[in-house]
Amino acid sequence: MTATAPTTAPAQGTEEIQDAGHVDVLIVGAGVSGIGAAYHLRDQFPDRTFVILDTQDDRGGTWWTHRYPGVRSDSDLFTYGYRFKPWRGPSIAAGEEILAYLDEVIDEYGLDQYIRYQHRVTSASWSTEDRRWTVEVTRGDTGQRLRFTTGFLWMCQGYYNHAKPYRPEWNGTDRFQGLVVHPQRWPEDLDLSGQRVVVIGSGATAATLIPAIAGEAQHVTMLQRSPTYFFAPPTTHELAAMLAPLDLPEEWTHEIMRRQYVTQYDWLARMSFEAPDELHAFLIESMRPLLPEGFDIGKHLTPRYRPWQQRLAVVPDGDLFAALREGKASIVTDTIETFTEHGIRVSSGEEIPADVVVTATGFNMSVLGDVAFTVDGEPVDFTKRVTWRGIMINGLPNMAYVFGYFRHSWTLRVDLVCDLVGRLLASMQDKGATMVVPTLRPEDEDMPLRPFADPENFNAGYVMRSQHILFKQGDREPWIHMLEHEQEREILPKADLDDGTLVYR
Ligand SMILES: Cc1cc2nc3c(=O)[nH]c(=O)nc-3n(C[C@H](O)[C@H](O)[C@H](O)COP(=O)(O)OP(=O)(O)OC[C@H]3O[C@@H](n4cnc5c(N)ncnc54)[C@H](O)[C@@H]3O)c2cc1C
Repeated sequence: MTATAPTTAPAQGTEEIQDAGHVDVLIVGAGVSGIGAAYHLRDQFPDRTFVILDTQDDRGGTWWTHRYPGVRSDSDLFTYGYRFKPWRGPSIAAGEEILAYLDEVIDEYGLDQYIRYQHRVTSASWSTEDRRWTVEVTRGDTGQRLRFTTGFLWMCQGYYNHAKPYRPEWNGTDRFQGLVVHPQRWPEDLDLSGQRVVVIGSGATAATLIPAIAGEAQHVTMLQRSPTYFFAPPTTHELAAMLAPLDLPEEWTHEIMRRQYVTQYDWLARMSFEAPDELHAFLIESMRPLLPEGFDIGKHLTPRYRPWQQRLAVVPDGDLFAALREGKASIVTDTIETFTEHGIRVSSGEEIPADVVVTATGFNMSVLGDVAFTVDGEPVDFTKRVTWRGIMINGLPNMAYVFGYFRHSWTLRVDLVCDLVGRLLASMQDKGATMVVPTLRPEDEDMPLRPFADPENFNAGYVMRSQHILFKQGDREPWIHMLEHEQEREILPKADLDDGTLVYR
């Protein structure tokens, strides 16, 4: 067995598929999830061979794709960072600080040697006879096609298409004489000095971009159809400031701050279900003192959904509101009627002048990296499949995926899922099994299938737009997902891997 798949010298443009070797585990994606998965795999199974494939030309996934000014986390980095790697900076971090953190993980655990960039996985075919996946890959740099085989496929591909951002169709875009950019593809040399910028969107991207460019641009208008909830915590938590002079080991500070933030977000998540009106009032009132006098908070900053039915947008130290107070930015809440030569006309008839329009309009979701899956020659139609604990899919052998939390940091779930996958691999080893497949028990066969996301629970636009292509969930454990971290940190470590829903062979 090869230590990692060999990097074959590609022949430019060849159509032939080249054999790239066999690995015990093949990880798709070198973002926060894939790097976490690789760490845990090496830690628990140092003898297993593996490789990480990623379409992009560098690590970081989301943080490599999104390099627009001001890009930063919403989450605190004590919980967005891994359990095993202390975070040393302020709670909220810039995209490049997150990349630097991931680089440290890659360096410290020697993961670089396992990553193959510019390797886009196009198909994955399971053979029960051979007990392996055959994974086909196209290289972005050479066009060369490669074939890997693996005993276990670990999909860490994130939830959206990195190459094709979501941009609604608007009237008149062809006559607009300015520049239109999407934050997912920010031009490195874009100079906004003296420009009138309109940012379409109201979510986290708009909220982080606007304060970052407000000083440079002549004026920035946030044009939103409807408002988002904002939350304005300090960049550095007061507890972190208290701990700083105590000279504690960094592992202690990391753990204390993690517990602090987990507790805080447990409270927020619980409030959103149990006392949504109180949470709504808390969020709205906490913004009021930070806004300019006479600001129409009802119109521009009062969402129409329950708090946390979509992600909260964090504005550390209220920097978005400072831009509003200083008159460098403003908000228009209206629908777009048409682009004009020199701006955007909204339904009220107002024309907002623009030299640059930024479409912070979100994502197109992908189902498991848009990989074409087959099992024993049968194409997999994900819309007819059910999740097993948000980690595996019924009928897909030896395949796990990582999907993080919406209301807590994504990475809290990465560590939990990796622990469970580790237990699963150990369980297979103990049983001498070469195959494990989530299977509906007789009592689950008639279970009602529910959409990927219950709109009552979470109804962000990108999820609602994609429900028709996503897999389903059932009405009982283990066929449900999107539980809160507060529940899952109890459930997942104890999850019974011999409850009859996992069939080992
Ligand atoms: C601007 C921004 C800020 C965010 N901030 C937060 C935050 O503060 N807190 C939070 O919890 N979440 C946040 N999120 C959500 C964020 O996506 C996750 O936190 C996390 O980064 C996802 O990591 P991942 O590794 O699972 O996926 P990704 O970061 O999406 O990385 C997946 C990688 O897999 C690769 N890939 C996909 N398909 C294939 C394929 N077929 N073949 C090969 N490679 C493939 C992609 O190229 C990509 O590099 C944010 C998202 C954005 C866009």
